[in-house]
Amino acid sequence: GEREAVLALEGVVAGYGDATVLRGVDLTVRAGQDVALLGANGAGKSTACAVAGSMTPAAGRVLLDGRDVSAWPAHRRARAGLYLAPEGRGVFPSLTVEENLTTWLPDAADRERVYERLPVLAGRRGLAAGALSGGEQQILALAPALVRPPKVLVADEPSLGLAPLVVEQIFELFGELRDRGVALLVVEEKAGEVLALADTVAFMRLGRIAWQGPRAEVDDERMAAAYLGLD
Ligand code: ATP
Repeated sequence: GEREAVLALEGVVAGYGDATVLRGVDLTVRAGQDVALLGANGAGKSTACAVAGSMTPAAGRVLLDGRDVSAWPAHRRARAGLYLAPEGRGVFPSLTVEENLTTWLPDAADRERVYERLPVLAGRRGLAAGALSGGEQQILALAPALVRPPKVLVADEPSLGLAPLVVEQIFELFGELRDRGVALLVVEEKAGEVLALADTVAFMRLGRIAWQGPRAEVDDERMAAAYLGLD
């Protein structure tokens, strides 16, 4: 049968003040599934991530493992298994790599597992995170998820501003998590690397899911239609 829905947005309406950004979004991510959320700048993708991770929608519901978490603060959703890797990496730049990891992984043994798996961080554990390259910061932000896999990982434009080789490494990490049963929601403005991993693609336009379906059904024509609003 179908795998369990780990994260679901149901009829979500959300925005900022008087500005409505999401106008009724339905989106489901299942265990071991990778959903790519694509769409032009300003379509509402980041707002959808915020609704999953911390924001309370004006209407509709956010379900985590079937529980309505719409009114829960970010830390409570995090404890329930949601890991939000925000746009702009989300590391503390003035703290060292070791200190950054400690905020998520208080257990030293867990941090050692990170260093074994990601030697690039081991060599920089005493450096301020702000001194790392953008790619290293992104890897640092994702590292805790590798040793303590969440139920669902939401990543907002993880490839933004990164070199192709680093993007490849980051999507390898995502693939590893997906294979371990983590539900993934990965936002990107353009299709690129994210399509290689995705089993489902959702196109967002003007605060709505304009089209959603299996990756196999996504071709150039479909892509153009979704981005240009020809659907
Ligand atoms: P981007 O790739 O630019 O992040 P996006 O598809 O993720 O685009 P959102 O970031 O969700 O889209 O933005 C949708 C709309 O909401 C935009 O008009 C944006 O200006 C507005 N918006 C986003 N964040 C805020 C905020 N914190 N306060 C007010 N308006 C916001």
